[in-house]
Amino acid sequence: MTNTDTADVAGTVRQVAQLARAGSELVRVTVNNEDAARAVPDIVEGLDRIGVHVPIIGDFHYNGHLLLTRYPECARALAKFRINPGNVGGKHADTNFRAIIEVALVHDKPVRIGVNWGSLDQQLLTELMDANALRDAPRDARDVTMEAMVQSAIRSAAFAEGVGMAADRIILSAKVSGVQDLIAVYRMLAGRSGYPLHLGLTEAGMGAKGIVASAAGLAVLLQEGVGDTIRVSLTPAPGGDRAEEVRVAQQILQSLELRSFTPQVTSCPGCGRTTSTFFQHMAQDIEGYLRQKMPVWGAERPGVEEMKVAVMGCVVNGPGESKHANIGISLPGTFEEPKAPVYVDGKLFVTLKGDRIVPEFLEILENYVATRYGVAVAAGAAEGGQGR
Ligand code: SF4
Repeated sequence: MTNTDTADVAGTVRQVAQLARAGSELVRVTVNNEDAARAVPDIVEGLDRIGVHVPIIGDFHYNGHLLLTRYPECARALAKFRINPGNVGGKHADTNFRAIIEVALVHDKPVRIGVNWGSLDQQLLTELMDANALRDAPRDARDVTMEAMVQSAIRSAAFAEGVGMAADRIILSAKVSGVQDLIAVYRMLAGRSGYPLHLGLTEAGMGAKGIVASAAGLAVLLQEGVGDTIRVSLTPAPGGDRAEEVRVAQQILQSLELRSFTPQVTSCPGCGRTTSTFFQHMAQDIEGYLRQKMPVWGAERPGVEEMKVAVMGCVVNGPGESKHANIGISLPGTFEEPKAPVYVDGKLFVTLKGDRIVPEFLEILENYVATRYGVAVAAGAAEGGQGR
């Protein structure tokens, strides 16, 4: 999701393009006022002009019914509307919600019904809390809140279907900020509805905390087959890179072997056998090289995103780990002979020595990619090519 002012067309186009180029397959923008609604078609057109065709999802709260009705060009330009049933308009919630669904039907757009625990439908929550209080053995307030989230999502989806929206045009989400709550609420949602689910730990936080919490929650659910789209919500450091959340989301999917996006580097943590920083620099240089090459390789060398590269600090585990990778190198540990065996497809390929170990290894890597991964065949071209 962008964090630019949506009314700032140039800034939003720039950030959407940055997220899309980092690998985001859907980008959400907030549509919070009339200026934002007016800007949406220009943003989509601006992206088109620079060849970025990622679907743009509009995030609506409080006034979505008004904006989508008054600005049909905005509704038309968006690929999907995200509606928060807790924020559609208090007493007039049903009327406003219906209005959004009707606009979606007119423009043939799917909707995501996104319940968030920070903005849960208070009327529903109060009803469930009151009913709970009358039980012989009242449930924990947390459990009732989870139940309210699930009911809010499912009831809203049923309402949308009642207005005419097809079930397969509805995506549900129920975002919370605690890992155990996330797992619990999505298990309930998946067990009680057949709608596709969008996963995400909301307000995950900054840095390592946000990354680890998102990975912990999403991994459990994805492993159970729950979830169709994901988002990682990280608070960026001031001036930080918004695309970090895209890379984290990709890494979660790739670590679980659900999708492949970029070659993976296996590197050991180092220990007393690697007393210089040479090995750390090499691992970092190879990671950087792969990242820098991927935009070209990704388009031209199908399958390269599944490549595994091992960069190991010494020969204790180095050759073994290298044999499991497509290509691997074991550097000389402290007091070891100054040579670095390189394995390709499980076999010793060459032993590098001297000060040019890194560039020579990158050369081997480049040649490996050129011969191992086929050249992409343009759509419409004859079948075949040098695919694996
Ligand atoms: S591979 Fe070698 S340097 Fe790396 S952690 Fe193991 S023993 Fe230490």
